[in-house]
Amino acid sequence: MRGTSDGVTLSGLGASLGESIVDLLGLRTEAILTPGWYPGRTANALSSLTLICLVFYLDTFTNAGSAIAVLYGLALLLASEVLAGFGILLASALCVMLTVVSFAFSGDALLPPGNLRAVVSIAAIATTAAVLIRNRAATERLKRTNDALQRSEARFRAIFEQCRVALWEQDFSKLKAKLVELRDGGVSNLKRHSASSPMFLQECADLIESVSVNDATLELLGRSSEEVSGSIRKFIPRDEECLSGIVECLFSGRTRFEGKGKIVRPDGTTLSVLLVLSFPEDGIGLDRVVVGMFDVTERDRSQQALLAAQAEMAKVSRVAMVGALSASLAHELNQPVGAVVLNAQSCLRWLRRESPDIPSASDAAERIVRDAHRVAGILKSTRQMIMRNPARAEVTDVAKMIGETCLLLEHELTSGSIVLQTRIPSHMPKVKLAKAEIQQVLVNLLNNGIQSINSGGGSEKKVSIECSMNGDDAVVISVRDHGRGIEDNALQKLFDPFFTTKESGMGIGLSICRAMVEAQGGRLSGRNHEGGGAIFQVSLPAEASHD
Ligand code: ADP
Repeated sequence: MRGTSDGVTLSGLGASLGESIVDLLGLRTEAILTPGWYPGRTANALSSLTLICLVFYLDTFTNAGSAIAVLYGLALLLASEVLAGFGILLASALCVMLTVVSFAFSGDALLPPGNLRAVVSIAAIATTAAVLIRNRAATERLKRTNDALQRSEARFRAIFEQCRVALWEQDFSKLKAKLVELRDGGVSNLKRHSASSPMFLQECADLIESVSVNDATLELLGRSSEEVSGSIRKFIPRDEECLSGIVECLFSGRTRFEGKGKIVRPDGTTLSVLLVLSFPEDGIGLDRVVVGMFDVTERDRSQQALLAAQAEMAKVSRVAMVGALSASLAHELNQPVGAVVLNAQSCLRWLRRESPDIPSASDAAERIVRDAHRVAGILKSTRQMIMRNPARAEVTDVAKMIGETCLLLEHELTSGSIVLQTRIPSHMPKVKLAKAEIQQVLVNLLNNGIQSINSGGGSEKKVSIECSMNGDDAVVISVRDHGRGIEDNALQKLFDPFFTTKESGMGIGLSICRAMVEAQGGRLSGRNHEGGGAIFQVSLPAEASHD
């Protein structure tokens, strides 16, 4: 203890003495002296000074007869631990000066060979100084690099420890050695090798060791830092696929791995984590590979819940679709089937007369055939709609199509004494459109108009169809009635499925019409007409056909 305290006192003295001299010379301490002071350094400094004094004495006052001043080099060597670059230069200058003084005292001849001893000594001092200065500069550079490295390591440690992302340093060097051994042993397909050896991945997990973890990792793993040390096998479920990805990555020499894995907690529950790690390219540092982990268990859980909900919704919407489909078919078939029944009854009446009216009966039978074909058409287009298979456009004479449509509603029009007016321009060209679909839409719109007129409150018992071309590639068909118009509360919901203001309505006609028109790339809109009643407009892409 004493020795140490003496040393400290001595070294303190040395340090302050050195610094005072340096300050006196007006130089920066670091340029002259290396920082720090300890007993060994003091001893070196004192030995060096003693040696300088001794050499000077021998060189000046004895007749040694050889270049004794060369030994100044030794003194410089001893002092080099204490002196920085400029300090070495000063010390060398002092030694050279002392050599010259000794030479002056010796009385030797100024010219060779008299001055040979002094010249050799000065050359030795200069060479030693040059080597020492170069060494000192190299040492300084090394020290600076080392300091920077240490600072960087400290910074990394701080980030590692404080980061909220789970970071886990793992040692992959043993695993790499095993994989290299396998490759050298002729294994080129790791997947095949792994399949043939069921314990392979477990053995690999045994070889990966935990080096250090941050707090976020401990939280994630639910363990203390002591429990985390050693092989990582205990954290990995037996069926973990991610591990094989990591092993494959290391085997094939790839440097980056990203994947989703599982982690086992002490209570046996497993967590889903996103993993990211980078292997060093040169293989150095495989003993400290940082593995970043993000807990995505909650996200996975909510995704699964979402998938389950989506599956349930799909089931419910399938059921709803079946319901809507039956309602739609019932709605669409209601009118033609009703017409079939009426015509069949008329036909029977004509036939049951005392003198059967065969021409009228056969007219009624023809109408039955026509309506039966319409039923088939409705079924076909409904099927196409379900199959998301829009009907193909065909070259259509619009005036003829509208005429046919009116015939289909003959019964409804006559029984309500309603007049149907058609306004089609004489120059109306033939257009390409999905005829059966558009007829069905028009039947629905006209039917609604007839029902509105029949429910009373209208100005006239009249429905009209107007047709025009909008340019060469769009046709607009308007269906207007003179009923009481669309109720205010219905205007916004007209096309909503199952919206109806009628007692026996199903609220499905307009939504089917809109779906059909939109399937053809067209638009269907409805509003009240300024002159009373409602007007519905079908606008369709339908290029004019000039054949
Ligand atoms: P439904 O005819 O079975 O009610 P729709 O989808 O065809 O079903 O019609 C929905 C609603 O739109 C009707 O209940 C009615 O309130 C309104 N509507 C449709 N067409 C007309 C019309 N021409 N005039 C007045 N209101 C109409």
